[in-house]
Amino acid sequence: MLDPDDRILWIGGEWDEFALANGGSGAGSNRVLATPLARHVTGETTRAALARMIAAVRDAGAPLRIDYRCDSPRLLRRVQLTIQPMKDDRVLMVHDLRDARAFEVALPPWHADETAAARKCSFCGAVHLPDAGWNFAEDLGADHPAGVAYVICPGCAAQIDEGVASLRQRRAPSTPMTGGFGPGAG
Ligand SMILES: [Zn+2]
Repeated sequence: MLDPDDRILWIGGEWDEFALANGGSGAGSNRVLATPLARHVTGETTRAALARMIAAVRDAGAPLRIDYRCDSPRLLRRVQLTIQPMKDDRVLMVHDLRDARAFEVALPPWHADETAAARKCSFCGAVHLPDAGWNFAEDLGADHPAGVAYVICPGCAAQIDEGVASLRQRRAPSTPMTGGFGPGAG
């Protein structure tokens, strides 16, 4: 749960377990409480997109739901994020694991590197390589790069834009916000 200034007010569920399983020992729940959400999100464009979605939820007083990928080297994981408005300008972010299955070929472990030539989408996990365009992680397998700069791919950026616009205009999104999306033609 976020307070009106987007600081983490409360963490429930399996955060600790999940952080530890993913090597995020520094992200245990008692170390993140009262810190800004943005401090725990990698990549400027990802932080900006989350801030836009959270602001739209507060302004519209309605929830926003969007799928993202949270893979580990061995597991393809689909998570549904619901950003829910609460009383007093608080916001609840619910991360619901929808699907987890093993990659046919495990990916090499990767890390965030802002200077890397390879870019990885924070939402769908697709990777852009200078000579290969966008590819899903599962299609790269062992060719997944080790260092990636986190960005948002064109398909996910359009999806987020539509999610925010439809919420602010109080209408249904023109494309489904859940059920899988990716880099598209970009
Ligand atoms: Zn994407």
